[in-house]
Amino acid sequence: MTKQIVFAIALLITIGVFSYTIGRIIRFFRFTRPAFPLKDWGRRINVMFSVAFGQTKIFRRPVIGMFHALVFWGFCVIIFGSIEMVIDGLSGSERVLQFLGPVYNIIMASGDIFALLVAISIIVFLSRRIFFHIKRFEGIEMKKISHIDANIALTIILLLMVSLLSMNIGYVNYKTVTGGTIVGLYPVSAILAPLFSGGLAENYRLMYEASWWTHILLIFLFANILPYSKHFHVFMSVPNVFLSRLDPLGKLPNMDSITREVKLMLDPNTAFAAAAPDTPVERFGVKDAEDASWKNYFDSLACTECGRCTSVCPANITGKKLSPRKVMMDLRARMKEKGPLMVRNGRDFNDNRSLLRDYISEEELWACTTCNACAKECPININHPTLIVDMRRYLVMEEASAPGELKTVFNNIENNGAPWQYSAEDRLYWAKDLEININ
Ligand code: SF4
Ligand code: SF4
Repeated sequence: MTKQIVFAIALLITIGVFSYTIGRIIRFFRFTRPAFPLKDWGRRINVMFSVAFGQTKIFRRPVIGMFHALVFWGFCVIIFGSIEMVIDGLSGSERVLQFLGPVYNIIMASGDIFALLVAISIIVFLSRRIFFHIKRFEGIEMKKISHIDANIALTIILLLMVSLLSMNIGYVNYKTVTGGTIVGLYPVSAILAPLFSGGLAENYRLMYEASWWTHILLIFLFANILPYSKHFHVFMSVPNVFLSRLDPLGKLPNMDSITREVKLMLDPNTAFAAAAPDTPVERFGVKDAEDASWKNYFDSLACTECGRCTSVCPANITGKKLSPRKVMMDLRARMKEKGPLMVRNGRDFNDNRSLLRDYISEEELWACTTCNACAKECPININHPTLIVDMRRYLVMEEASAPGELKTVFNNIENNGAPWQYSAEDRLYWAKDLEININ
């Protein structure tokens, strides 16, 4: 009974802290703008299964991709064991899901095998980060804290896997020594168990209990660290893929505000109605975090900081300041800074700072070629160009600010209906000496 009470208190604290953190983040979504309509559920489910559960994009780098996929699939399998532990902890039962029979054996065996595979993968990830210089993990946006954050999360996952294996080994040895029936299959732990043989039954019971508590408390701790870490993608990546933008990558979304303006100009009655003094004037494009769409913000929360986008960005590769990973990290950081202030003081609160310039410079924005390589490469379907283009739209439409070459193009389009400096009537002059009739 004492165990159940302690467990229930630990679970309540975990759920309480987690709900508070998530509630805080959800409140920030209130300030964001609408994105595309959510439809095409069939296609979304398809994308979720191929990109998220199938990990198809991660395999573009086959070796390290395989390790990453093993961790993801391992989490998907091990979670069943964790659910069982929570039910056992609350009800005082032991291995409550054993009524599933052969299915239970498969779940336990898969969890046991994946615990080892995930542990090996995490050791590879940690060694890579600590002992090797991986260019993808470098960049001005990758501060020391980003590396510490990654290493802490990886270490917790490693401890989770070690405690799971140790729990299974303790259980197998305890049942072997006491002559009890082993419920479930534990292929890896059964091989490792003899390494720890020769002990007393009580010691194995203690090993099992200590590992059980270590494992479950680490899960509770991890769940509450994640929202403050880049490893928040453990929760966010699958929904982010499900909510992917389904339009072709090169297609830029129309601006509803501009469409509305044009309609107002074409329909004087609507224009008159819209001229009412209480009609809010909407900012064109994105200047600050609250101008971004909810999907942009969702993307920023889901970003794993893996740097795959930046590693294929032609602007970054050729030495420009732009890093698509930084764009996502900046939006997340800016919302973290301004979100609480807007919660207290309202959406119009101005702290004399903005995403544009205080976080992302004009130089970075104009370096983007909108090639979409970043969006194509991102393993969780984050779309950077839509945000970059919306920030450029703000610069052009609200501040008339653009590089000189572009301003010439804009003027030409306005005056000549074409990007060149010649009037439309002169457009066929290039053919005047040819033996064709241009009239
Ligand atoms: S769309 Fe822009 S940010 Fe993305 S890869 Fe191309 S140049 Fe880089
Ligand atoms: S945006 Fe995607 S590819 Fe880029 S760092 Fe984040 S998760 Fe990785």
